[in-house]
Amino acid sequence: MAKISIDLKEGKVAKDADVIIGIDLGTTNSLVAVIEDGTPVAIKDKNGKNTLVPSIIHFKSERDILVGTDAKEKLISDPENTIYSVKRLMGKSYNDIESVEQYFGYKIIDEDNDSLVKIRVNDKFYSPIELSGMILQALKLRIESSIGKPVSKAVITVPAYFNDAQRQATRDAGKLAGLDVLRIVNEPTAASLAYGIGIDQEVPQKIAVYDLGGGTFDISILQIQDGIFEVLSTNGDTFLGGDDIDRAIIDYWIEINNLDPNALKEDKNLSQEIRLLAELAKKEVSSTGKAFKKQIKFINCQISPERLEILIQPIIDKTLKACQQAMKDAKLEKSEIDHIVVVGGSTRIPLVKDSVSNFFGKRVHDKLNPDEVVALGAAVQADILAGNQKDILLLDITPLSLGIETVGGLMDTIIPRNSKVPSKAGRQYTTSVDGQKNLKVSVFQGERDLVEHNRKLGEFILKGIPPMPAGIPKIEIHFILNADGILKVKASELRSKVEQEIEIRSQYGLSEEEMAMMLLDSIQHAESDMSARALLEARNEGNAIIHSSEKFIEQNLEILTEEEIKSIREQVEKLQTAVDGTDKDLINQRMDELNEFTAPIAHRAMDHTIANSLKGKKI
Ligand code: AMP
Repeated sequence: MAKISIDLKEGKVAKDADVIIGIDLGTTNSLVAVIEDGTPVAIKDKNGKNTLVPSIIHFKSERDILVGTDAKEKLISDPENTIYSVKRLMGKSYNDIESVEQYFGYKIIDEDNDSLVKIRVNDKFYSPIELSGMILQALKLRIESSIGKPVSKAVITVPAYFNDAQRQATRDAGKLAGLDVLRIVNEPTAASLAYGIGIDQEVPQKIAVYDLGGGTFDISILQIQDGIFEVLSTNGDTFLGGDDIDRAIIDYWIEINNLDPNALKEDKNLSQEIRLLAELAKKEVSSTGKAFKKQIKFINCQISPERLEILIQPIIDKTLKACQQAMKDAKLEKSEIDHIVVVGGSTRIPLVKDSVSNFFGKRVHDKLNPDEVVALGAAVQADILAGNQKDILLLDITPLSLGIETVGGLMDTIIPRNSKVPSKAGRQYTTSVDGQKNLKVSVFQGERDLVEHNRKLGEFILKGIPPMPAGIPKIEIHFILNADGILKVKASELRSKVEQEIEIRSQYGLSEEEMAMMLLDSIQHAESDMSARALLEARNEGNAIIHSSEKFIEQNLEILTEEEIKSIREQVEKLQTAVDGTDKDLINQRMDELNEFTAPIAHRAMDHTIANSLKGKKI
């Protein structure tokens, strides 16, 4: 039975404040943290040992599902039914992951290439959202048994570059686990919060968050000012991390033992055993600074600290190159960075830490456990939301422009790239055809001038516009990007008050590389895009004039001479030919000619209309 506490002094029933938990839903490991006596703590397993929950799910049967450490053990014995790295699949279509499919040991399937991926286990199909939901449920259970009461509210972290679809998928996973996700927070923002950076300072602080985990690397440059976090830039590599160091060690052992790499690959158990030993060697050598030596069967597995550094260096160099780019994108000099926070297990390696520190010319914040720092920061954010700390806003930026398709397939940007989030913007449009009752609103993300080169996020139809001549309806399109980076699009016809609204859940997500590709593409094609846009705009205008000229003739048959009608038709025909061609200057010239010719006739027509309407009226 639930206990009710009574505040004896006030004589009131005291409401037990809801616990809001912070969750780091990671690619390799996940954690849950909460504020205890004012300090964030990561929750350990029931044996009081580990805070990390491996993000791994094992299906013994449809009902017998293991999550975490127990599931990790099945990676070798039952790889087909053991699912890992689900985070890489969140909000992705089969097309998005095709090139890396071999990386996964389980079956990823698609119904058609554009739909979201599913994972097949025996005869059942699971979406990455359901699977992430299972991990979140395990974390929820862990904390509930630790604090002895149910929890239902959470803050979950995601990489700064996650797009709408991936954020929405994370939110949905929370829902499936019975959690009300109050906020989706960027991982680097959480890491900074864990160190309390900038919270009580008026002076703006610039922060670099360097996150080198097992399989991914991220660098984010943040700014915090007046309690507002802003992501200035992000960069990284979704396939770079501690696993690459392990692989380099294995390659080194293959070399010194003169082994056939293919023969090793074929013996699954042996190769797995060597992989685990390589990871152990890496951890031991990097924490003790002493050489490692072991033997597996006939294989000599040894490595010196000097050799390990040689193997690690190229990986560090790659990360520093990404840091360089992130600094360039943030338009900052290294000396302007006030704080460097390191995140991820691989930053325990002294050479990594020292290299980052040398790169920025400043000591790194490394007091907190690099595996826990994101979850701890999520707990701090949860505490802020619970009203236990002074209010701190979190502000991010949208990495790609958001807009809609207009006539001729043009992209009309409504929220430009790098806009701060949350953000709201709107614009008025009208119809292009007389009596148009429906208007299709197609939402795109990207930097190119033509929507065909951008990513479609979704579409809807504004129905029931009362029939009006083209150009008369006033259609307002509003984009509302909330604090989680999820987009709501609203269309309303102002005269009739017809309204329609959707929340955009894009069909598939973009990886960081794809995002970079799209930006690069837009720069490379800027010139050709601009001329394509100019041609399309000229065509649109030309078509509108052709349409109104026909209407003009129809409505003014009384006052037009045969000659005039013939001349207008000839000119319209010439304009039509130009519109069908690809010379925008010719289209503009033909439009000018037609306008010049029709202007005096239009005046005459107007006088006639006025005269008619005044006939018989008393003034
Ligand atoms: P994460 O994805 O943040 O959990 O990071 C896991 C990665 O950190 C794995 O590649 C681990 O092998 C690596 N790691 C953990 N501890 C150490 C250590 N002491 N030295 C080197 N690498 C480590």
